[in-house]
Amino acid sequence: MTRVFNFSAGPAVLPEEVLQQARAELPDWRGSGMSVMEMSHRGKEFMAIAAKAEADVRALLDIPANYKVLFLQGGATAQFAMVPLNLRRGKKSADYINTGEWSKKAIAEAGKFGAVNVAASAAAGNFTTVPPQKEWRLDPDAAYVHYTPNETIGGVEFPWVPDTGAASLVADMSSTLLSRPLDVARFGLIYAGAQKNIGPAGLTLVIVRDDLIGGAAAGTPSMFDYKIHADNGSMYNTPPTYAWYVAGLVFEWLKQKGGLAAMAEINERKARRLYACIDSSGGFYRNPVDPECRSWMNVPFTLRDPALDDEFLKGAKAAGLVQLKGHRSVGGMRASIYNAMPEEGIAALIEHMREFQRKRG
Ligand SMILES: *Cc1c(COP(=O)(O)O)cnc(C)c1O
Repeated sequence: MTRVFNFSAGPAVLPEEVLQQARAELPDWRGSGMSVMEMSHRGKEFMAIAAKAEADVRALLDIPANYKVLFLQGGATAQFAMVPLNLRRGKKSADYINTGEWSKKAIAEAGKFGAVNVAASAAAGNFTTVPPQKEWRLDPDAAYVHYTPNETIGGVEFPWVPDTGAASLVADMSSTLLSRPLDVARFGLIYAGAQKNIGPAGLTLVIVRDDLIGGAAAGTPSMFDYKIHADNGSMYNTPPTYAWYVAGLVFEWLKQKGGLAAMAEINERKARRLYACIDSSGGFYRNPVDPECRSWMNVPFTLRDPALDDEFLKGAKAAGLVQLKGHRSVGGMRASIYNAMPEEGIAALIEHMREFQRKRG
C-alpha cells in the first residue's frame, strides 16, 4: 500500500490508524457479524457507537451539559439556512461578519430569511485579514452574530474569539473545529461539515446551546428544525451512520494523541514551518495574509511566476504530494494541513518547495 500526502481542502486526509481500524472492522464490527454500514441505526450496536462518539467529542471539546451535539446531514451549507430559520425568532435582523468566500455564502443564504446586517467586512483589504472587533457595527437588536473563524479558501483565521455580550455567537467552524482547544461556552451555536477536520463527508456536526433550540420559524421543514433532531437524538430519520462511526474513530484517535491541546501544539508547529518556508523564499513563494490571521489549517500560496504552477504541481505529484492546486476562485496553490496531515507531510512539502526554487528560482 502506498499512501500519498494529501493536501486536499475537503474531503481531506484521515488518520491512517483510523482507516486501518475501519478496514479491520469493515465486514464484521466487533463480533456482530455485520458491517457498521449494514446496521440498523436503532439497534444496540449502532446506538453504542453513536453514544461513544458523542461522549468522546464532548470530552475533547469539554462541551458544557447545556449544549446538544447533533449529528446531521446537508453539510455546512444546510446550516447557512438552518441557523436563520431557527435563531431569527421574529427579530428584524441578524449580524454577519464578512471575511471571505464562506462568509459571503452564509450571508447570501441568510438573506433569504430576512434582513442581514453585515456588521464588519474585510473586503477593503481583499480578505487578507479579519476586521478588529472595535470596528464592528453590531445591531443591538440582532437575533445573533455569525462569523467564519477559519476561511478555508482565503486561509484567514481569527486568532481571537469575538465578544458579543448577550447576543448569541454563531460560528461556521467547518475547517477548524478540533484543531485546538475551544471555550464552547462563548458560543451559542457551532457547526462544521465533517469532511475537513472531523471525518468523512456526509456528516455535519452542530453544537447548540439548549435555549436556542425550539424557536424555528413557522413552516420550517422538519429536517431543518434543531428541536426535531435534538428530541430524537439525531435519529429523527436515518442518520449518516458510517460517517458517524468513522468520526467516532477520529475522536478516539484524537484522545489517544493527547487531545486538542496536544493537537494545537502540533498544528501550530506545522503551520509555522510552512509559512517560514514561504516567507524565507525571497518572494519566490508568497502568502498574502496578515501574519496575525494566517490559518493553521489552510495555507494558500502563489508562485512569483504563475507560468511555473503546472510544473510545480507535476513535481509535487511525482514526490507523492497531491491536491495542492489552489481553489478555482483564487488560483495558485493551497496546502490544507488538518489534524490528520502528519508532520512528515509538511517536511516533504517544504523539501519539494525548496528543491523547486533551487531549480527554477
Ligand atoms: C467546506 C466549507 C463549507 C461548505 O461545506 P459543505 O459541507 O460542502 O456544505 C462551508 N464553510 C466552510 C468554512 C467550509 O470550509
